Amino acid sequence: MTWTTQEWLAFDREHLWHPYTSMLNPLPCYPMVSAQGVCLKLADGRELVDGTGSWWCAIHGYNHPRLNQALHEQSAKMSHVMFGGVAHEPAAKLAKYLVDLTPEPLQHVFLADSGSISVEVAIKMALQYWVSQGQPQRKRLLTIRGGYHGDTFACMSVCDPVNGMHHLFQGILPQHLFAPRPKTRFHEAWNPEDISEFRRLLDTHQTEIAAVIVEPIVQGAGGMWFYSPQYLREVRKLCDEYNILLIFDEIATGFGRTGKLFATHHGDVCPDIMCLGKALTGGYMTLAVTLATQKVAYGISQGQAPMLMHGPTFMGNPLACAVACASIETLLASAWQERVKGLERIMREELMPARDYPKVADVRVLGAIGVLELHEAVNMAAVQAQLVDLGVWIRPFGKLVYITPAYVMDEADLRHLTTAMKQVCQ
Ligand code: PMP
Repeated sequence: MTWTTQEWLAFDREHLWHPYTSMLNPLPCYPMVSAQGVCLKLADGRELVDGTGSWWCAIHGYNHPRLNQALHEQSAKMSHVMFGGVAHEPAAKLAKYLVDLTPEPLQHVFLADSGSISVEVAIKMALQYWVSQGQPQRKRLLTIRGGYHGDTFACMSVCDPVNGMHHLFQGILPQHLFAPRPKTRFHEAWNPEDISEFRRLLDTHQTEIAAVIVEPIVQGAGGMWFYSPQYLREVRKLCDEYNILLIFDEIATGFGRTGKLFATHHGDVCPDIMCLGKALTGGYMTLAVTLATQKVAYGISQGQAPMLMHGPTFMGNPLACAVACASIETLLASAWQERVKGLERIMREELMPARDYPKVADVRVLGAIGVLELHEAVNMAAVQAQLVDLGVWIRPFGKLVYITPAYVMDEADLRHLTTAMKQVCQ
């Protein structure tokens, strides 16, 4: 079949759902034909510097020779095989990397097919753990406002109750517990008051709570908010005190984005269950993991249903595992820490002056994340068009214009991005 760009775009508009769009009145989509390094190429030949890393994922840039090679080599051997009763080296190797790189108590790896599913599995692990321990009344989760954990039902139920989709699914989503968003910013001196409502909720509901779930340090899609590592330490302390499981959703923060390999390292604490995704495959394909401690893994397995009740068709997909291994090797072989620090320094220098713009409410930079928060929500279609005209691909949402660039981005391209951000926020 041959058709023109205009023809397939028109078909797309009529038939394809895009993320968070209407089928009747969708926002415009830009036809992309290729991606190389830190640039995306539009069908009309224009090249855009990519500020999104395709939503935090493409940390090494696009069309990476080492990741391509891993994909080709694995596809020539075995693209997929069921994981039930089958073991393969790409999965074992990936699990070994993850067990070695994450905090020591995390020893058991569940390979999931997307970030949301890894959160579902994390929640299922926590609930099943308590069933196995003879405490099935522990059904509730405690989290913090401003969070985002994915779009499936268990995930939605712990997303921010105001910004999330709770109002649409009232009466359908389980009712969980929400502490206020931590107020102490990442670099600020700790205010012990910040944890008091969390502590009160934990204390009041201690016999019903199965687990606490939070995004460590960076709350991403729920508002791009960076909070104090001390908050994580306090949460860990309280979970230990009350014997409640702790889940860290590191799907956005994992693999160096915040300046540490994992955000949990900022607080030097270890969760009982941890979710990883996004940059796991360097942005090549969907794959996520849920890691668990021995306490959780054995605790589940000693129960009345001695197996973890989850096993998707494409679990452990060898192509995705092989690319994830290549992505981790590429990351570890690079000077990623210096690169992320360098990006952080330039973003700070470039973006902080925007604090004085009348439209700008706040500026935040941490690791390879740069955020301009406006007083009012942006007009997505208009601002996106303006950004494309300026030669960049940045996808604002709500009041936020932000970037999560590839770690390999050079200074000129980064300044191109930050200049465009400031231009549309002036
Ligand atoms: N948790 C966090 C912190 C995320 O940022 C996301 C994705 N934006 C998810 C979960 C869901 O991941 P996915 O979109 O791969 O289902």
